[in-house]
Amino acid sequence: MSERTNLLDFTLPRLTEWLAAQGEKPFRAKQLFQWIHQRGVAEFDAMTDLAKSLREKLKDIAEVRPPAILSEHRSADGTVKWLFDVGVGNGIETVFIPEDDRGTLCVSSQVGCALDCKFCSTGRQGFNRDLKVGEIIGQLWVANKRLLEMEAQGLSSRLEGNTATSPKPVSNVVMMGMGEPLNNFGPVVDAMSMMLDDLAYGLSRRRVTLSTSGVVPHIRKLKDALPVALAVSLHAPNDAIRSRIMPINDAYPIAKLLEACNDYLEVAPRDFITFEYVMLKGVNDAPEHARELAKLLEAVPAKVNLIPFNPFPESGFERTAHDRVKLFQKTLLDAGYVATIRRTRGDDIDAACGQLAGQVVNRMKRKDVVRFHPAPRT
Ligand code: SAH
Ligand code: SF4
Repeated sequence: MSERTNLLDFTLPRLTEWLAAQGEKPFRAKQLFQWIHQRGVAEFDAMTDLAKSLREKLKDIAEVRPPAILSEHRSADGTVKWLFDVGVGNGIETVFIPEDDRGTLCVSSQVGCALDCKFCSTGRQGFNRDLKVGEIIGQLWVANKRLLEMEAQGLSSRLEGNTATSPKPVSNVVMMGMGEPLNNFGPVVDAMSMMLDDLAYGLSRRRVTLSTSGVVPHIRKLKDALPVALAVSLHAPNDAIRSRIMPINDAYPIAKLLEACNDYLEVAPRDFITFEYVMLKGVNDAPEHARELAKLLEAVPAKVNLIPFNPFPESGFERTAHDRVKLFQKTLLDAGYVATIRRTRGDDIDAACGQLAGQVVNRMKRKDVVRFHPAPRT
């Protein structure tokens, strides 16, 4: 392991402090921060407006050390998936999804996840550790760099709209990769603050979305710390179904969750919460579930994003047929909601929602990996 300080771990205030301890003035921190994040430069020698003596000093004690790429796959639809090395036996995944008017990066926050949602491949693998700031922001740093290299080689072409909205390939970030971002609160907030920083990536709060399974006290903390756009993994119209597929519901049931969502909206960059709803055949996809959901969401300004279940080996679940998803959507639309069906992207390279598995050395002592059994139909 390198002894040098990894500058990717530092927000601008932390970098300023760290450089002050080396006897350097605050404006040097700004310059260095811009070189690293705005311009994507890792070599100190290339940072020409820094004094030569500072560059030499930095070479001795610091480095820009993003997680190393273990593999890179490109899907037929342009989606790119990276597997990053995050230490002995552990890998995390990051996915880039190009669309007409934006380029979205799906970023991981933990190695695995401890919350054990029954339909999620990451959850099934258990948990190893939280990612550090540099490993989170490093995913964005590397993605922009690699995508620009691919563009230069003609392997990836950016659509005009995207070029107009952002000088970099990644114009939007969703914290929807491996892990529960709110359970790695400090590092995730620091990394997101760098995404928003005008001297770094300059993304607006609307373009950074955090998805949570509903860690209620941390939703409240996020409201005060850094209210980015919020997506909530609801996946059920009532507590009985939700608790069976998401153990976290026992700690923070739906009523408490919706209350926290309403409070969050006081400061959110958008005037609705996005509720994600993975469609699981025979579990939560019946027309009466759609009606129950419509009633439930009267309590919160909401947009619903229906996600076709993405299968993985031995998940025990099946995808709801498309016409049934459409029917579910229609019920919500008729009730006056905005309801979309998420397009499945990158499933030929296992990059779709819930398929991110990476490599996780599980360190959790789990009682037992409880297999999901559908409830008997009455
Ligand atoms: N831990 C956070 C963010 C990561 S998961 C959360 O749970 O919100 C990103 C989204 O993918 C969540 O809505 C999650 O419920 C969904 N998801 C998980 N497994 C899935 C699967 N097999 N198919 C489709 N979506 C899945
Ligand atoms: Fe964790 Fe989210 Fe997967 Fe649940 S859905 S196990 S919270 S990553």
